[in-house]
Amino acid sequence: MSRFFSSKYKSLKAYVPGEQPRDKKYIKLNTNESPYPPSEAVTKAVEKEIGLLQLYSDPETKALNAAIASLWGLKAEQIVSTNGSDEALNFVFMTFCDKDHPIAFPDLTYGFYSVFAQLNDVKYKEIPLKDDFSIDYKDYCGIGMNVVIANPNAPTGLVMPLWQIEEIVKTNPDNVVVIDEAYIDYGGQSATSLIDKYDNLIVIQTFSKSRSMAGARLGFAASNTELIKDLNTIRFSTNPYNVNRMTAACGIAAIEDNGYYMDNVKKIINTRGIVKAELEKLGFEVLESHTNFVFARTDRIEGEKLYLGLKDRGVLVRYFSKERIKDYNRITIGTPEEMERFIEAVKDVLGE
Ligand code: PMP
Repeated sequence: MSRFFSSKYKSLKAYVPGEQPRDKKYIKLNTNESPYPPSEAVTKAVEKEIGLLQLYSDPETKALNAAIASLWGLKAEQIVSTNGSDEALNFVFMTFCDKDHPIAFPDLTYGFYSVFAQLNDVKYKEIPLKDDFSIDYKDYCGIGMNVVIANPNAPTGLVMPLWQIEEIVKTNPDNVVVIDEAYIDYGGQSATSLIDKYDNLIVIQTFSKSRSMAGARLGFAASNTELIKDLNTIRFSTNPYNVNRMTAACGIAAIEDNGYYMDNVKKIINTRGIVKAELEKLGFEVLESHTNFVFARTDRIEGEKLYLGLKDRGVLVRYFSKERIKDYNRITIGTPEEMERFIEAVKDVLGE
């Protein structure tokens, strides 16, 4: 840390993303990317925009917002598009949380929530998951704080039914409830259907997973027009051109090609079932995933040893050293071929 570093950030512990090693070619099952490439229409959309890079993108991302809204039965004014959903989350913390408006979230969830809270000087309450790693919705009902919940949750992959989400939203009318639906296409019911019913609900989604665009950085927040206006005040005070013109065009093309992406989702769900069964045959406990990853442990080997053994064999998975989940690994679902090689590597590490 240099002597110039702002004192307000001195105790900040930055988010540590999953490894993106460049030393050799790995089977990458560690950051929940899609193994399938973007559709042809998306590739063409990028090519078209390249010749226009001298021009700024539309700061209101009008066409993109309209396309996103049409997919979820909303109005364009109910959407704000962002540079990945991480940016949407940060905007939510900046816009609605402060010293007097703390936020609650599960103790085991997406690691960025606590980082955004610290970055924005927001007090936060981490509520323990139940022993089976599920979220007890009653813990959040009438909590009197802002709430952020990933549904399905990461890294567990477990999902909450929509009626429980609705109870949380309904019982906290004076607080903002944020539902992070990064993995919703792989299981679970989206809370976007509740947006017109409640004025305190924000739903955040990403194009990084089911829409194969992690490298393009596109996410969005959906809510009522008043909250979207507030989010835009912060966005325009931060970076009005936060979505570049190539990414905006890719997003529109991906929505027009929705069938291609939903077919890929079906493939992932199918492969997920096979991987779960194979791991169980090898003596693993595998949580019931509603995402594009599985969360698994076994008595046969420590979590970190398995992670390191797989890495030696060219397969990257995600290991978390946090006490309660240190026996587990989070394994992204790749193509059937990649997952066959993953299972072979697991057997090899286990000495089978
Ligand atoms: N929310 C959750 C629960 C995630 O797992 C991720 C991906 N790491 C994100 C949000 C952010 O994704 P992105 O910024 O790529 O949209």
